[in-house]
Amino acid sequence: MAKATDKKAADAYTYVDHKFDVVVVGAGGAGLRATLGMAEQGLKTACITKVFPTRSHTVAAQGGIAASLKNMGPDHWQWHLYDTVKGSDWLGDVDAMEYLAREAPAAVYELEHYGVPFSRTEEGKIYQRPFGGHMQNFGDGPPVQRTCAAADRTGHAILHTLYGQSVKNHAEFFIEYFALDLIMTDGVCTGVVAWNLEDGTIHRFSAKMVVLATGGYGRAFFSCTSAHTCTGDGNGMVARAGLPLQDMEFVQFHPTGIYGAGCLITEGVRGEGGYLVNSEGERFMERYAPSAKDLASRDVVSRCMTIEIREGRGVGKNKDHIYLHLDHLDPAVIHERLPGIAESARIFAGVDVTREPIPVLPTVHYNMGGIPTNYWGEVLNPTKDDPDAIAPGLMAVGEAACASVHGANRLGSNSLIDLVVFGRAAAIRAGEVVDRDAPVPALNEAACDRIMERFDRLRNANGSQPTAELREKMQRAMQEDAAVFRTQESLEQGCERITAVWKELPDIKVTDRSMIWNSDLMEALELENLMANAITTVFGAEARKESRGAHAREDYKDGPMGGRNDEDWRKHTLSWVDESGKVTLDYRPVHTDPMLKPEDGGIDPKKIAPKARVY
Ligand SMILES: Cc1cc2nc3c(=O)[nH]c(=O)nc-3n(C[C@H](O)[C@H](O)[C@H](O)COP(=O)(O)OP(=O)(O)OC[C@H]3O[C@@H](n4cnc5c(N)ncnc54)[C@H](O)[C@@H]3O)c2cc1C
Repeated sequence: MAKATDKKAADAYTYVDHKFDVVVVGAGGAGLRATLGMAEQGLKTACITKVFPTRSHTVAAQGGIAASLKNMGPDHWQWHLYDTVKGSDWLGDVDAMEYLAREAPAAVYELEHYGVPFSRTEEGKIYQRPFGGHMQNFGDGPPVQRTCAAADRTGHAILHTLYGQSVKNHAEFFIEYFALDLIMTDGVCTGVVAWNLEDGTIHRFSAKMVVLATGGYGRAFFSCTSAHTCTGDGNGMVARAGLPLQDMEFVQFHPTGIYGAGCLITEGVRGEGGYLVNSEGERFMERYAPSAKDLASRDVVSRCMTIEIREGRGVGKNKDHIYLHLDHLDPAVIHERLPGIAESARIFAGVDVTREPIPVLPTVHYNMGGIPTNYWGEVLNPTKDDPDAIAPGLMAVGEAACASVHGANRLGSNSLIDLVVFGRAAAIRAGEVVDRDAPVPALNEAACDRIMERFDRLRNANGSQPTAELREKMQRAMQEDAAVFRTQESLEQGCERITAVWKELPDIKVTDRSMIWNSDLMEALELENLMANAITTVFGAEARKESRGAHAREDYKDGPMGGRNDEDWRKHTLSWVDESGKVTLDYRPVHTDPMLKPEDGGIDPKKIAPKARVY
């Protein structure tokens, strides 16, 4: 153990220093798949996680993981690519989406061989269910059965399997360690500093490569399906390192959060035949999306539900939600395929799904935006001359990253496949670019001391507002002003309200000064991270003068593309935020070209040319 020497604040702490080839921050599906891959490559790998690995939010993923295995009818990776491009509302990077669709089957078979207990068909193949926006024949056919499932506990099965495999491959775990910030040395990431929540020591990791796999930031909103741990910490670290975030304005609302509780009812319910009904008993989705109906894309279904409620056809005492029926399904099917859902509905809504409908409401579910990367997981730091320039020493995967395969809207079951495809890609890339024989970069003590100054300031923060109070102000502003439908007015108000909260951050009050299991301090650190996410989300949304995917503006809804403006806005938003809360925006081009040429078996570029997005 070494004591830091020159800075007063930094002096107060006890340090433990480590050297690794690779440090992965996060042990969800993305972090574990990357950790496992790195360890398999023979790289000395550490995985840091603030919660026990199998408690990461991935454990809650229910519905499944998309891959064109063709186990239950015709499918093709090109159809998967087409659906993903269309789902993204033509904002995703085509090279990354092609990589995802092509690599998906291999990534799922790999999971199977690692031991994921998938549900099975009669012939013993991996069971696949239909999911929203996944269609046959380049969108012209009926829904395709593409989503591989382990009952309605797919994430749980994947996470436990990957953790076991990582341990088997001798990755070193630092469990219940809270990563504070990246160590940046002349624009290169050379490590990360973490706080051991259990004994209060500070751990300085030097590494040749740091991989951020810290998940989404659903908790910036008041009602969300994500775990309390989804606070966008990696995005916050990237923003503090002076690097940009990308496409933050695109926030997905899931159509079926349980009314009041926010807990998710998987789209798999509609995949198995469940449907939505308004107060008139009407299956209204038939009206809005005649072919895909209840299996239209998430943003579409969420907006239709919101319109029904607004026009007075909501259900319940206040006519403020919608019913999801699965009481017409065979109870045996529910028992076999959707057991977790039946349990959640009973606990959180007091409903027996074999007899009554579940009360549901659109709820924040997923963040399409995040840390910009290429399809190898390398973090981008775009310059004027090179919009694809990389930030050396840094990778990002999973929901924290923006590769960008989901563009303006993610299709259901495309996140779990994103985690494993790009977790694996990052490991393959690191195997190529990390020099196993080179020395680990020297510890940058000056950078570490600056990180500890911030930590120390928050630990001793003695303002007048507890974290919970400031957090609620942020969550309410985000929920009300950056909602399913947005307007210039609501977004301007959102920018003002979030900026005001930012200015109040120095007034935060942390009561507990200890270093051991100090959840008061941890929540303050998480709030600072959430705020970097919230402020870039509202400013990016205010600036984007169009409707695209999940970014639905009521002041831009007319025209052949339904308010989408490809000429001016088919580009990625980049956003930086400085210490004072000033947001700077810029843009980078979308990658529009497939990698494989048609003569080599690739998709015909005409098939994915922009058109109106209808289901
Ligand atoms: C209820 C629910 C159901 C879903 N169902 C599906 C589905 O069926 N199919 C699908 O494709 N997608 C689904 N999704 C989306 C998908 O599950 C998530 O996008 C995905 O699991 C995110 O994985 P991740 O590895 O990026 O992050 P997470 O699983 O959120 O893990 C983040 C990790 O980072 C660590 N971490 C974060 N901050 C720090 C820090 N400061 N220091 C140290 N460690 C840190 C955490 O400890 C954790 O290990 C669902 C999401 C939810 C919320």
